Amino acid sequence: MKASKLIETKEHFKANIPSGWWIRFGETFLEDLKEVLTEHDCLEKAEVGDIKEKYGSLTFDLYNGPEDWREHQAAWEYISEHTCVRCGAFPVKMRDDGWMLPWCEECFRKHLEENKDGRNAEELTIDNEEQKDYINYPINNNETGKADMRPYYKKINYEVRQ
Ligand SMILES: [Zn+2]
Repeated sequence: MKASKLIETKEHFKANIPSGWWIRFGETFLEDLKEVLTEHDCLEKAEVGDIKEKYGSLTFDLYNGPEDWREHQAAWEYISEHTCVRCGAFPVKMRDDGWMLPWCEECFRKHLEENKDGRNAEELTIDNEEQKDYINYPINNNETGKADMRPYYKKINYEVRQ
């Protein structure tokens, strides 16, 4: 599928990602993609392959896109891994009930109840240190080699603490 068509129609992207991700960053993601492709003059030639959630992270395959997209992609993956798949709360922890997904506590409890899963939410929560870093130090520095997340946090209306 042509990237320009994906951006224009939005529906294909929306249909292939969890509802919470669409709520939190779906349109912003598409705007970011459009901006990068336009800036590098590849809006017409870029093609999109697989779009899906995999291991709680956004998979988004872009062909004929610019090298610069890599950093954007990494940032969106990172954000997806901390966005509740159901309601879009951010930042949340990764939970693993057999499927590893980012859930807020409330949605995860509901999800376990709906599935008559007797296990408790705490046991299935992955206490990733990464999340701590993420909240307290949402900036890149060249020491960690992480992408500068500030512009993305601003785009998804998350208050940047410094
Ligand atoms: Zn939620």
